[in-house]
Amino acid sequence: MTTADYINQTEQYVLHTYNRFKIVLEHGDGVYLYDTDGKKYLDFAAGIAVYALGYGNQKLNDALKDQIDHIVHTSNLYYNIPLASAAKKLAEAAGLSKVFFTNSGTEAIEGAIKTARKYAWLRDGTTDHEIIAMKNSFHGRSLGALSVTGNAAYQEPFKPLIGGVRFAEYNNLESVKENITDKTCAIILETVQGEGGIYPADPAFLSGIRALCDEHDIVLILDEIQCGMGRTGYMFACQEYGVKPDIMTVAKAIGCGVPVGAFILNDKLAEHSLVPGDHGTTYGGNPFAARAVSTVLDIFEEEHIVDHVRSLTPYFEEQLDRLVKDFSGVKARRGKGFIQGLVIEGRPVGDLIIDAQDEGLLTISAEGNVLRLVPPLVIEKEHIDEMIGKLRRVLG
Ligand SMILES: *Cc1c(COP(=O)(O)O)cnc(C)c1O
Repeated sequence: MTTADYINQTEQYVLHTYNRFKIVLEHGDGVYLYDTDGKKYLDFAAGIAVYALGYGNQKLNDALKDQIDHIVHTSNLYYNIPLASAAKKLAEAAGLSKVFFTNSGTEAIEGAIKTARKYAWLRDGTTDHEIIAMKNSFHGRSLGALSVTGNAAYQEPFKPLIGGVRFAEYNNLESVKENITDKTCAIILETVQGEGGIYPADPAFLSGIRALCDEHDIVLILDEIQCGMGRTGYMFACQEYGVKPDIMTVAKAIGCGVPVGAFILNDKLAEHSLVPGDHGTTYGGNPFAARAVSTVLDIFEEEHIVDHVRSLTPYFEEQLDRLVKDFSGVKARRGKGFIQGLVIEGRPVGDLIIDAQDEGLLTISAEGNVLRLVPPLVIEKEHIDEMIGKLRRVLG
């Protein structure tokens, strides 16, 4: 089959919910991807902030192959070996107590919402609790997660969504306060808004929300699905702020390509929320996915991934800031560590992304005509230089 055949057959049989770029990716090596025509791409998309360790990490690949030869799936009716270590490592990394593994980010959000509602139900015995979410947020596509996603276009055709959701302005503590009622059970937000255009939380906003949650016994849910796992130069973005959520949601990079997510609870929530019968999943935390998480966390530690991100961030930001200075079409930079956005003016960011692909660079967009850069965390200075060189040619 030719490249065109793969594309045509995919379009014939896969439901058209994505306008895909006309690239058929065939394999990866380090921070480079290769398509079926042999074209090489420097990857600053990482499968949407997933492939933190780059392609072909031998230790991860060997562990996954070994796990396939032992057992891939058991169900949650039994214990399995990788689950024990993955849960311990993830809970400790998050500074929280107990983990529930899911198969995706959106399912982690569903679990977090159910946990918060159950906590409030146990406390009050009532069922009409409210959740405060943020405008411009993204939490996933299943109905619960969509209900707390502050994007009207994503929501409209699928109403009615779950009730009792109020939307506040991100980085506006007054707006959050105004939405608190005696029914509020949870506040959910991304520590750094990703899809919405790369907006990091202001420190005063995040600590202000933590204080409000403490004062009113509201569950704080921080969505670290995109900004977590080392991307900001901290294991989880909230750790830079010194703010601990009651529930953290993670996914994307924790399996480095193996589909897995999780919601992680502190002691209080773990002891006063979900019990047997309340929640479940056939696959979640299966030995294959858990082995991925456990191994990824080992590699993060052994290869000092978080320190690497932190030490390369000033250079990355400086080079991006130069683009803002040198090109009138680049209006601003926003972000932290290796989650960065360039605000593009004067042309649709989608055109820029295609021109960059022609130059051999993969990037993605975010809301607000933003070029989003979420590379594998293992990029080196030379890859930043290569990316900047390619972007300069495309912008010039
Ligand atoms: C990607 C993402 C999700 C949804 O994760 P899926 O695995 O696509 O369901 C939720 N929240 C944030 C912040 C995300 O970036």
